[in-house]
Amino acid sequence: MRISELFYSLQGEGKRTGVPSFFIRTNFCNLRCRFKSGNLCDTPYTSWNPGDEKNLGDVQVDKIIEEYKKSGAADTVITGGEPSVQKEELDILCRELKKLGAYITLETNGTIVSNFINHISLASVSPKLSTSVPYGTEYEKSHSLNRLNIPALKQYEENFRKGTFDIQWKFVVCGEEDIAEIKLLQKEAGFSDRDVYLMPEGINREDINKNSAITAELCKKYGYNFTGRLHIDLWGGRRGV
Ligand code: SF4
Repeated sequence: MRISELFYSLQGEGKRTGVPSFFIRTNFCNLRCRFKSGNLCDTPYTSWNPGDEKNLGDVQVDKIIEEYKKSGAADTVITGGEPSVQKEELDILCRELKKLGAYITLETNGTIVSNFINHISLASVSPKLSTSVPYGTEYEKSHSLNRLNIPALKQYEENFRKGTFDIQWKFVVCGEEDIAEIKLLQKEAGFSDRDVYLMPEGINREDINKNSAITAELCKKYGYNFTGRLHIDLWGGRRGV
């Protein structure tokens, strides 16, 4: 499986913030976010620059499982990049982790859905809004075309409602202009306010501090949950912590 990094840390985002977790960061993404602020996504070494020499390369699922066991964590967070671009391998990985009783959070942009959803504990779905489009780059068109897959988003919500897994809908927020788009997605995919988490856009402490207050006010105004980025508060933008 194409892997960027494997490490033990605390979950930094969403409803399981602070839970000790083993992170499986897959390499590659089908999108190329660049936010309105000009910031690239917070893991550009998996998306814009997947050839980064610090990425681990191909790692067998057995080896990943071995490292998970060594970590001693009950939780594991499969993140990226976009894990679902390797959907067959992801299915095997999730199946093996589930056999061990792991609490599996899958962080995904929600563009791809497949069998792997049957083994996860929490789907952390983070659809990308129009403020993520990398205007003026070679990826503008493909990002715009691929960033939303409404049937896939619906499947995530339907499976949550069937009890297959728990869910959170997490949005990187650049400002109030994002809210109308979130509301439209809610209408199309059917998810509730109580499952929505707004997260301030930013890749370092300065950005997060600046954007947290605005995001918190939006949460109060629209009845959404707030999530910070604990790992950035604690360790700044460092990799693998
Ligand atoms: S979808 Fe996620 S990993 Fe992919 S470019 Fe956007 S923020 Fe980065």
